[in-house]
Amino acid sequence: MRLRNKPWADDFMQENNHVVVEEPFSKKENWKNEFTEDQPLHLEIGSGKGAFISGMGKQHPEINFIGIERVKSVIVGALRKVLDAEVSNVRLLNVDASDLRDLFGDNEVDQIYLNFSDPWPKSRHEKRRLTFHTFLEQYEAVLKPNGQIVMKTDNQQLFEYSLMSFSQYGCKIEEVNLDLHTLEDPYNVMTEYEEKFSNKGQPIYRCRVRFPE
Ligand code: SAM
Repeated sequence: MRLRNKPWADDFMQENNHVVVEEPFSKKENWKNEFTEDQPLHLEIGSGKGAFISGMGKQHPEINFIGIERVKSVIVGALRKVLDAEVSNVRLLNVDASDLRDLFGDNEVDQIYLNFSDPWPKSRHEKRRLTFHTFLEQYEAVLKPNGQIVMKTDNQQLFEYSLMSFSQYGCKIEEVNLDLHTLEDPYNVMTEYEEKFSNKGQPIYRCRVRFPE
């Protein structure tokens, strides 16, 4: 992803602190108070420029969404999309999701999306992959019993690695789709990376998994 320095980013986020939450770590266990409706909470980790989180917010007013994106110059793109979508059920956090347990209480989250996560192909970087077992431990802690992870990627190696990691952890793999776009799915909300790779004719992989009860 090409990054440009955006000196106006801090001001833009501050002006819109009803969307980009300030001091998010202080909201742990009280996220429902951040939203107007008390309803299920879905998280996207690594939201990028926000096509998915804003699109899902619009498609699902019955769900509250939080998008986490650590790069400031990227999250402002997501903020613009959330504002344009005129949705009140989406919040953005400009933090590193290195330990979700600092942000969310046990069982506070209903679903987690990992969309086109950085693949970190070198084996010495395995610990950075968002499906490494230390991340799965965090997801399990913050997810409600029976909560699920939905992962999409264009990267076959990351997909295979993640299926192995989920399976070794004891997760139940409920869906594996090796070419998501073969059939038209009117409910699939595309991410920026998904749009780019599927336009190049690359298959998009998706899986849905649940932790053991
Ligand atoms: N999900 C978007 C999409 O599909 O278009 C963006 C994909 S991009 C390859 C991965 C994004 O995840 C980057 O914007 C990166 O900054 C963000 N990211 C990676 N690791 C993260 C972490 N630990 N915490 C927060 N954001 C992270």
